Amino acid sequence: MAEKLLAVKGMNDILPPDSARWEWLEDKVRQLMSRYAYRNIRTPILEHTQLFVRGIGEVTDIVEKEMYSFEDRSDKHGDHAHLTMRPENTASVVRAVTEHNLLYEGGKRLYYMGPMFRRERPQRGRYRQFHQIGAEALGFGGPEVDAELILLAVALWKALGLTDWRLEINSLGQPEERAQHRERLIAHLQAHEGLLDEEARRRLHSNPLRILDTKNPAMQAVVESAPRLIDFLGPQSLAHFEALQAILDANGIAWTLNPRLVRGLDYYNLTVFEFVTDRLGAQGTICAGGRYDYLIGQMGGKPAPAVGWALGVERVLELVKELGQGDALPVPDAYAVIPETAALPLALRTLQALRAEGVSVQMHAQAGLGAEGMGSMKSQFKRADASGARFALIFGASELAQGCVAIKPLRAGKDDSLAAQTLQKLDDVAAWAEGLRA
Ligand code: ATP
Ligand code: MG
Repeated sequence: MAEKLLAVKGMNDILPPDSARWEWLEDKVRQLMSRYAYRNIRTPILEHTQLFVRGIGEVTDIVEKEMYSFEDRSDKHGDHAHLTMRPENTASVVRAVTEHNLLYEGGKRLYYMGPMFRRERPQRGRYRQFHQIGAEALGFGGPEVDAELILLAVALWKALGLTDWRLEINSLGQPEERAQHRERLIAHLQAHEGLLDEEARRRLHSNPLRILDTKNPAMQAVVESAPRLIDFLGPQSLAHFEALQAILDANGIAWTLNPRLVRGLDYYNLTVFEFVTDRLGAQGTICAGGRYDYLIGQMGGKPAPAVGWALGVERVLELVKELGQGDALPVPDAYAVIPETAALPLALRTLQALRAEGVSVQMHAQAGLGAEGMGSMKSQFKRADASGARFALIFGASELAQGCVAIKPLRAGKDDSLAAQTLQKLDDVAAWAEGLRA
């Protein structure tokens, strides 16, 4: 036998029955996004590497070490393209919005779902191909949109039955406030240089704010005693932050201020937030976002404010699964038992009509190479049972000779009057289809 081929490490197949939970979540998301009037956007998985270098920032985990990048073969003009599989979707959304001039008539509310790629060490809740669902509101500068996005996420947790989360918020202020804080932060970190790990020392001058985000326990003390960015905010930044808090409070949303919340990406200002759970071990952040008022301008667009979040689908689904939500397995309404191949044309015509009436039907089909016939009635009924269907449709020769199909309830109790097998007319499917639908 030929050697079995396996998937790439850190990249997962999503198989039934788990895939049903994915679809369940995606349905909830679509419903909710439409209630908040967010519209779907789909951008390519491959983009020019430069998009992410500029959009995410050179001194970030993603751009420094996590991107899947390659040089494309030159086309007939001899152009090489440096391409990267998107590690996140905000930069692409900003590119698309700018490229197609979408903010021409005012702000846009957009959402996306799809795979992202990062070369990280695979572990629980951390994969190399993973999925994000994200919402972005572009062209709006007020705290009400920050609040709307947070309320949208909270509504999603509710729809998914998730209760074990907490919301952490912070404000990163504006660039000039960050610059003042940065000086004091560098001074503090330099004063304790002996306690910094290698990465922190490397980032001391390039991206000191990110050092506050460290997961290294040995550095917690230095980081906790560091000057807080929130103490450097001017009145305007504070007003924005307080207005957001007031809206959250009025909606009964509990939040905590985490002055060390700085987010992994470079482009944020003012509001940043994370939804965190304690149920997933070290990978406890299920959703993260914030305001990025300078990114559009930085990417060559006409400057416009924006805010958004992205959630990690695998992490959210692990939580959903742990709480026993979204577990209803899809089952067909009926299973078609077809004793002889001669019955196939009529059977398939009937099934087609049933499905057009909204009945879901699983058809028995020949196993193996197909020369062996339909299989015994016993084995067909075993399959019918295993499918979970409530009815078997039996396309036997004697039924067909009367222009009928037999309908046998598979799940009714013994003394149930519904347990009786009935005959139904093939040429009048619409009349009895409804009785089969769940
Ligand atoms: P982390 O600190 O866990 O690496 P991050 O700051 O890199 O997260 P973001 O870029 O903000 O994450 O992505 C938003 C969300 O996407 C995260 O909160 C998380 O739920 C999810 N996520 C990020 N990276 C991965 C990954 N490699 N595998 C699975 N989910 C991920
Ligand atoms: Mg990361």
